[in-house]
Amino acid sequence: MSGTEADADVVVVGLGAWGACALWQLAGRGVKVIGVEQYGLANAYGSSHGESRMFRTACLEHPGLVPLARRSRQLWQELERETGTHLLDPTGAMLIGPPDGRIVGGALRAAREHALDIEVLDRRALHRRAPAHQALAPGDVGVVEPAGGLTLPEMTIRAAVGAARAAGAGVLTDTRVTALEFTAAGVEVHTAAGGVLRAGQAVVTAGPWLARLVPSLPLEVVRMPTTWFTPAEPGERFTLRRLPVFMRELAGGDVIWGHGVLPGGTELKLGLEDGGRHFATVDPDAVDRSVSPDDWSVLAGHLASAVPGAGTAPSRAVANIYARTPDGQFVIGRPRRDPRLLVAGGCSSHGFKHSTGIGEAVADLALGKEPAVPLGFTDPDRF
Ligand SMILES: Cc1cc2nc3c(=O)[nH]c(=O)nc-3n(C[C@H](O)[C@H](O)[C@H](O)COP(=O)(O)OP(=O)(O)OC[C@H]3O[C@@H](n4cnc5c(N)ncnc54)[C@H](O)[C@@H]3O)c2cc1C
Repeated sequence: MSGTEADADVVVVGLGAWGACALWQLAGRGVKVIGVEQYGLANAYGSSHGESRMFRTACLEHPGLVPLARRSRQLWQELERETGTHLLDPTGAMLIGPPDGRIVGGALRAAREHALDIEVLDRRALHRRAPAHQALAPGDVGVVEPAGGLTLPEMTIRAAVGAARAAGAGVLTDTRVTALEFTAAGVEVHTAAGGVLRAGQAVVTAGPWLARLVPSLPLEVVRMPTTWFTPAEPGERFTLRRLPVFMRELAGGDVIWGHGVLPGGTELKLGLEDGGRHFATVDPDAVDRSVSPDDWSVLAGHLASAVPGAGTAPSRAVANIYARTPDGQFVIGRPRRDPRLLVAGGCSSHGFKHSTGIGEAVADLALGKEPAVPLGFTDPDRF
């Protein structure tokens, strides 16, 4: 490249769930690729932290995400086979609320458009199936997706990066990228230690830090607490089997989410969705990582009636962050069609379930191919 040999065809900046899966997919196709991560792998500072995530194909956020979730499930199974790790637990997923509400209404719309295998439970059947859910509103229903369940974020990152390394990828951890400099030959990726990596193109999967490197993207970063509760009287109703991973829309529009105690564990994971009205936007490099009752007071108020007995204060809490776009959809593609830059970010707190599919789409785009799943609605230039 301009008389200087390139270090790689592609440099992937940020190895959270999306970057790790992109690295895996690129390396698996024989691309000379280097992944760069500012902290350690599976760190607690970005969006892919907290042991578990909800997986569902009933994508209430956009019907176009259903094929991506389906493809992601297949790829997760491939990653499991390739690495001998268990990463996706199909223990069922439940979406609860009024049939015309954002959560259940969105899930039913996705199910109709894509003929999803779901079961709809009326309030009484829902209460029998998941007795931890109390104070259901008269019209509430539950949409159960048996193939939904839990995915494991930290383990997914380690598995994907491990598989990428085995396929020849280079990996630099504790290395912060400070700038991307575009040249006639490609891109120079500058690091805080003063190093430069030269490549044909950069894939920026920097999660909440994406707009630091690509400031044209209209992203804001939200600080969102993750909380676990230990019930004083653990019982069958709090097990993962009886309280599978859920989102529940309450009267007034707030949404709580979580799941029951994993086998061998003691804690429920329960949280409050941001919904644009609860959590502050922050500078990703100046996040208050301490937690206080302000972080869970609204949630605890809801739990007292909606999931009584779960506990009034968390047994464990951490402050996570994620990047939000103005329309709540991802940004995946080439800003201004620049062949030297690809971005995948703006997860808007519903992106983990698509990590493997996004990794594949990024690899397709990097190689000049149309992604297998149409992703026009995630065009980074749409704003
Ligand atoms: C509390 C919470 C709950 C969620 N629940 C769900 C759920 O149930 N289901 C679901 O599907 N989704 C869920 N999400 C969303 C999901 O977790 C994210 O969509 C997903 O983890 C996004 O991963 P990412 O790789 O884009 O970002 P990240 O995991 O933040 O990864 C970005 C990485 O880039 C690195 N980086 C940034 N800047 C640089 C730089 N300059 N140089 C080098 N490295 C850099 C960071 O250190 C980080 O490791 C949730 C999110 C949160 C916060």
